[in-house]
Amino acid sequence: MSFKSLGLSDALLKAISKKGYTTPSPIQQKAIPPILEGKDVLASAQTGTGKTAGFTLPILQILSQGKHLSHRPIRALILTPTRELAAQILANIKEYSEFVDLRSAVIFGGVNQNPQVSQLRQGVDILVATPGRLIDLQNQGLVSLSKVEILVLDEADRMLDMGFLRDIERIMKVLPSKRQNLLFSATFSKDIKKLAMGILHNPVQVEATPENTTVDAIIQKIYPCAKEKKTELIIKLITDGNWKQILVFTRTKQGANKLTESMISAGIKAAAIHGNKGQGARTKALAGFKDGSLTALVATDIAARGLDIPLLPHVINFELPNIPEDYVHRIGRTGRAGASGEAISLFSPDETVFLRDIEKLVGLKLPKENIKGFEPDPNASKEPIKQGQGRQQRDSTPRKPKTDSTNRSSNNSFGPRRPSQNNDRRSNR
Ligand code: AMP
Repeated sequence: MSFKSLGLSDALLKAISKKGYTTPSPIQQKAIPPILEGKDVLASAQTGTGKTAGFTLPILQILSQGKHLSHRPIRALILTPTRELAAQILANIKEYSEFVDLRSAVIFGGVNQNPQVSQLRQGVDILVATPGRLIDLQNQGLVSLSKVEILVLDEADRMLDMGFLRDIERIMKVLPSKRQNLLFSATFSKDIKKLAMGILHNPVQVEATPENTTVDAIIQKIYPCAKEKKTELIIKLITDGNWKQILVFTRTKQGANKLTESMISAGIKAAAIHGNKGQGARTKALAGFKDGSLTALVATDIAARGLDIPLLPHVINFELPNIPEDYVHRIGRTGRAGASGEAISLFSPDETVFLRDIEKLVGLKLPKENIKGFEPDPNASKEPIKQGQGRQQRDSTPRKPKTDSTNRSSNNSFGPRRPSQNNDRRSNR
């Protein structure tokens, strides 16, 4: 199967070949034809599957073939949960649209709105937006959505997790009722199905990957460790192994900050990325991690979702996630595109229940290796950390008005894996 056989125009084929893609990914093969036919699509896919091109390419084709209006009203609206994802999607659109006459822009919160507004004034065919800022600008009469022909809800499950349901509903009310709708989600909880049913009309359903399987290329290890020795162990692993690029997950924002400080004191170039960090700091941390000037990026689940970081050799769970699907997302950041990778989890006795749930989800007993001097006290309590504790610090509480917290889905793609359909537990966090 080639991109040409999917019915894409020469202008788009030229951009695709410039990107270096030779074969459409499974989600692209399945989603592009029905989107080009104007159908609604409900797609089960997450980051790393090539889903962005899967919806962007046909949108560009449809819009470039449609009638051009000189003032360029917004004809395609792409809603995403986080700023990072929004920026990433815009970057992709810019590349794919190099040879067609379409303008695109992104709006998200946490930065001054004026540059965004002046871009909107010049006319934008495709707008990528996080819900909060879009509603802000809409309330101020600075953005008109009355000519939208195509709506994309990307990472719909994350948007619901982050408390965007009301915002999405408000946005739906100002869109023309006749439009094409595309919904992408990694998981399908009852809430997502309800949302999809309310928005999509006779959707074509497409799926990219099987469920809850972890990629064979990822070596998964569990290091039992006394809770208070985790920081020392992680520093030792990174230093002794001379590791150069490690994504570390903590459960809370405060935990991420604390660990980052300890790493820096130990001479490891590290930065934290989570929802309390300003946009500048987040962008800088991610760029530093990608270009190699940072060794470790310490992230909360929400912050790391969906960041496109290719070929990560090491992922370390400083703490196990209490939502087992997050484990699959986290380790999906390594072993990407067929490369091998290592996912290490530092496991303290109070995480016994979390580990049990993870093993149940992935259908594997994960191998444990003891490291001398770090073993936990065999009599330590196996009681889980109380759910209510530290809730304020978690990076998964619904967003406050006018801020769009970070996040997004991780997993990659061209290989198998996807988190489970049961995402209901997450909403309790
Ligand atoms: P996405 O799931 O849209 O975030 O894409 C994940 C990564 O795959 C991005 O780095 C894309 O540039 C890349 N990608 C998308 N489509 C293809 C393709 N057909 N062949 C190779 N790489 C691709």
